Amino acid sequence: MLPVFVFRPLWTFCLLSLASASYCQRVNPNDPSWRNAQTSHEVTKYNGTSLLKLCQLSDPRRISVYLDNILVARPVGSDNHKRVGMYLKRTMEELGYYVEIDRFSEQTIAGSRTFRNVIGVLDPSAPRWLTLACHYDSKDMRPEFDFMGATDSAFPCAVLLDVAHSLSPYISNRGATDVTLQLVFFDGEEAFRDWTQTDSLYGSRHLAKLWADRLYPPYNSYNTREIHRIDYLVLLDLLGAPGASIPNYTPTNDPLIYNTFWDTELRLRQLPNCMDTSTSTVFTGYSLNANVEDDHMPFHHQGVRIMHMIPTPFPRVWHTKQDDRSALEWKCMTNIASIVRAFTARYLGIRI
Ligand SMILES: [Zn+2]
Repeated sequence: MLPVFVFRPLWTFCLLSLASASYCQRVNPNDPSWRNAQTSHEVTKYNGTSLLKLCQLSDPRRISVYLDNILVARPVGSDNHKRVGMYLKRTMEELGYYVEIDRFSEQTIAGSRTFRNVIGVLDPSAPRWLTLACHYDSKDMRPEFDFMGATDSAFPCAVLLDVAHSLSPYISNRGATDVTLQLVFFDGEEAFRDWTQTDSLYGSRHLAKLWADRLYPPYNSYNTREIHRIDYLVLLDLLGAPGASIPNYTPTNDPLIYNTFWDTELRLRQLPNCMDTSTSTVFTGYSLNANVEDDHMPFHHQGVRIMHMIPTPFPRVWHTKQDDRSALEWKCMTNIASIVRAFTARYLGIRI
């Protein structure tokens, strides 16, 4: 990703007004009212007991196992890259997800390359998606060194699997039956040489166009497309190192969803034995007028509502040899996994 900061931070004053989830019947996707429900969707306001239960689903050993399988040098075209892609697919399938591979070849500055976006959806018949996303390729720094990309983005990928795993016993019992959880592991986020509009974001550019071109349902007179199924695209990147602080990036972020994340973290931190509060909050509540080029941008350009979870400043290990397992800190990792899990449960109205 490429940071282009424009100007000053501002306080964000508004907190989301929270209401109980509305429990509804599954709509017919041929009835376009499912799109109206995307803008009127209300997140669940859990009591402390439910939030604590969500917190107690944390399991550092589970995240560690995921990292063991993802945290290898995995530049596009390498055997490791293929292995990690297949691991993501297999792990989601074992959790009951329907998995598709968006495979395509493209001419790059380094020659022709084959890319594979890995996409898992829990309930394919639900018309709407809450989409959690990250990229799983690592930057090719050879021959200087094998770049591991622990924050970039092995740990974010582990968080996605952890959320899916920890919520799997509860997710079928959710209030928002028209929206399901989707996990997208983008390929080819990194530039082969220097970051440009054409040498970067290979997977997300391809997938955004594919879904913008494809009608959903396949025959409909409302011109609704696959890409319209995304309620929000939540993109995690450069996370897991100490001191991460995430502002509300304007104009790309949707303020309502940012405030829901912010509010979720603040409520979790008030609970006993939940978050490690020796660290500062991840979500600052500040707005920052900045464009950070990343996998969300092709979707933002198509009108998808975005939550970009990337810290400012970037971790000091960014694109260096030091972005390995030693760059990650457990209490920060556990806090982030808890926040994303609780947010997901709130959004989907999971009864716990
Ligand atoms: Zn990177």
